[in-house]
Amino acid sequence: MAHIIDGKQAAASVIATVTEATQTLEREGGIKPGLAVVIVGDDPASHAYVNSKSKMAKQCGFNSIQHNLPEMTAQEDLERLVAELNADPAIHGILVQLPLPRHLASEPVIQLIAPEKDVDGLNVVNAGKLATGDLASGLISCTPAGALILINKIHGPDLSGLNAVVIGRSNLFGKPMGLLLLSANATVTMAHSRSKDLPAICRGADILVAAVGRPHMVKADWVKPGATVIDVGINRVPAPEKGEGKTKITGDVAYDECAEVAGSITPVPGGVGPMTIAMLMANTVVAAHRAAGRPLPKF
Ligand code: NAP
Repeated sequence: MAHIIDGKQAAASVIATVTEATQTLEREGGIKPGLAVVIVGDDPASHAYVNSKSKMAKQCGFNSIQHNLPEMTAQEDLERLVAELNADPAIHGILVQLPLPRHLASEPVIQLIAPEKDVDGLNVVNAGKLATGDLASGLISCTPAGALILINKIHGPDLSGLNAVVIGRSNLFGKPMGLLLLSANATVTMAHSRSKDLPAICRGADILVAAVGRPHMVKADWVKPGATVIDVGINRVPAPEKGEGKTKITGDVAYDECAEVAGSITPVPGGVGPMTIAMLMANTVVAAHRAAGRPLPKF
């Protein structure tokens, strides 16, 4: 059976570093990291995510501010709020929860966030720095940054000689994940919905990362024996065993069968998920240190 990669434990260790760095920054620099989270509308899943981010920010010792905007917010009102947060020196990180309601365009909002406060790493400046191999001066998308920490725990920081396959090519996850693996010297294949014979591509992977949004798509015979399998998928599926009408969260990987073939595997929940929120806190504390001109904590 595969080694189970404990994302909760890895996230707790990141949070401990964030909390310590926050205390030092406040003690020695008189600065408290400020994180502003903006949510538009009433989607319950988005509210649950945002509440847990705000709660974690408080736990880390941040100045945590949540802006709840009504569903019918106009594009210019949302953009005005982002501009105000950009100008506020007490705010070091800005996160606009996605997806936005359908009448709003997310791209202009993302690009409006000041790159040094873009703790989601989605602004073209931060995406461009990652694409050109500058991992030091920008902010990196939280979920791939967290997934890389889990991969490094298994393989170390240098992935030379290893084949990595990322299924999914989104700006939020797939592209930055591929670039991070490339920066760590892996040989990277980016697969997507137009790829031919996906199972065969995956069988060549020493590190297989699935970020598709299709429950249990990756089967045991897609996995090279001994490979590291990172499951990024978050899918809500019916769970009749828990009672009528109940649901549960499951990943993109058929966990039970793949765990019999893989060398290491992340569970869902409890794998990549907890790392996302931890890396959001890490990005915020890094942004606050940069604003204060102080040496950065290491994650
Ligand atoms: P997305 O923007 O919908 O991208 C999905 C990707 O999967 C696309 O590149 C798509 O290819 C590809 N794809 C779709 N069907 C496929 C198929 N049959 N075969 C191969 N590739 C296929 O989603 P995302 O934002 O990257 O998220 C992906 C999953 O990760 C979701 O379940 C999401 O909830 C989860 N996620 C989790 C976290 C976390 O905190 N753990 C964070 C972010 C995302 P095309 O480009 O060709 O359409």
